[in-house]
Amino acid sequence: MADRGESVAIVGAGLAGCLLAALLGRRGIEVTLYERRADPRTAEPERGRSINLAISARGLAALDEVGLKDDALARALPMHGRMVHTPTGEQSSRPYSADGTRPIHSISRSELNLALLEEAAKTPGVELRFGYRLRSADLDSGVLAFDTPAGAEEVRASIVLAADGAFSAARRAVTFRTGFNFSQDYLEHGYKELTIPPTADGEFAMSPDALHIWPRGGSMMIALPNMDRSFTCTLFWTRAEFDALVSDEQIVDHFAARYPDVVGLAPDLVDDYRHNPIGSLATIRSYPWVHRGERATLALVGDAAHAIVPFFGQGANCAFEDCIEIDRSLAEHDGDWRRALDAYQQRRKANCDAIAEMALDNFVEMRDRVNSPVFQAKTQAEHWLERTLPGRFVSRYELVSFTTVPYAEIPARVGRQRLVTAVATAGVLAANAARSLLPHREDHR
Ligand SMILES: Cc1cc2nc3c(=O)[nH]c(=O)nc-3n(C[C@H](O)[C@H](O)[C@H](O)COP(=O)(O)OP(=O)(O)OC[C@H]3O[C@@H](n4cnc5c(N)ncnc54)[C@H](O)[C@@H]3O)c2cc1C
Repeated sequence: MADRGESVAIVGAGLAGCLLAALLGRRGIEVTLYERRADPRTAEPERGRSINLAISARGLAALDEVGLKDDALARALPMHGRMVHTPTGEQSSRPYSADGTRPIHSISRSELNLALLEEAAKTPGVELRFGYRLRSADLDSGVLAFDTPAGAEEVRASIVLAADGAFSAARRAVTFRTGFNFSQDYLEHGYKELTIPPTADGEFAMSPDALHIWPRGGSMMIALPNMDRSFTCTLFWTRAEFDALVSDEQIVDHFAARYPDVVGLAPDLVDDYRHNPIGSLATIRSYPWVHRGERATLALVGDAAHAIVPFFGQGANCAFEDCIEIDRSLAEHDGDWRRALDAYQQRRKANCDAIAEMALDNFVEMRDRVNSPVFQAKTQAEHWLERTLPGRFVSRYELVSFTTVPYAEIPARVGRQRLVTAVATAGVLAANAARSLLPHREDHR
């Protein structure tokens, strides 16, 4: 690719920043990656926003571009379905795919980040700077001001790729620009993590092959397995629910009443509950993502452009797709950053809006609808339709998690399938009703 003489800075060596650096380096573009944290290869890992996360088809396709797919899969645990836990402690398994064979993958966030960072670090042309916290970016002078352990430092860049997460400092450079639309919508729910350790004989305390859900109407808990045979549970509760539990007894009593099967599996429940922080959950929407000044152009990438709630397990998958799109657009436009970044934002915006809405909707599905017999019949009907009409009928979950069909195409496609889904669901409900009403076969004898 032609060298356009741009000096390229990526702010944030999180999931998106590292992947983007590796992709650009491979393209022969020199890039400097600035990260506020210490180098995780030599420092203790900082507790991130979640211990583990679910990676699915989109994330794997992106990791494949830098040769990390197999490595990621080797560090991940497959989850073939949901395991729903009732308030009385019974469990029922619900496969994700029609044939039950397709999993999403639980992976440690810090390990995935480290693998991407190592990939970026060994890519020629990629420079890494740790302990660099962006304070401000001036697009007219092209100056980025950082706080570093050695004091304030200014660097110049003509292309600034802001991958510094949902509360992006780089985004502040454009927040008050005319024409920049920005919103952040907080859920009334926050999240807190708890741990279920391995059993005394070193085994998983529950099935590792599932994403566990305790749906409780207005709130819920989930648990994903880790390679060390523990589970990380995440409570998604309203602030009022968190605030209501003050004493140790209240914490234990509440779990015994609402999540009875967890109490015996989580010996540090009270300690975790007391000491682990409550994280916030917000949907961040912004546009345009590309901003030009006299000397520099800034593009927002990943959560910095469009943070979403985690209920479809797609935030990182979606951020990875942004990186792939930037890389692809640069190839299409022969390294012309102006045209490439315009194409990037035009192609990605509708997709990111679509997954933001689907993620919000999936919260209601996970915490509430999964309990309903109609919802369960609908899932059965969808799986039957998928087996009967392979490739022609594909459920929303499959389209999001097991394909790379652009997110923006999914709502319309699911809309076209609505009538046939409703008819098939009615059929499943009728069959279920017949099964419970009609006499058993042996009663005819
Ligand atoms: C509870 C929870 C569960 C989740 N589960 C999933 C899941 O299962 N599947 C999934 O796909 N997604 C999940 N996500 C979403 C996912 O974590 C994010 O979408 C993803 O991390 C976004 O990547 P990013 O690189 O854009 O931002 P980040 O991962 O936030 O990285 C930003 C980086 O920028 C650095 N930085 C920040 N400020 C500065 C600064 N001023 N100067 C320099 N560097 C800076 C940070 O230290 C960090 O390294 C979850 C999110 C949450 C909160």
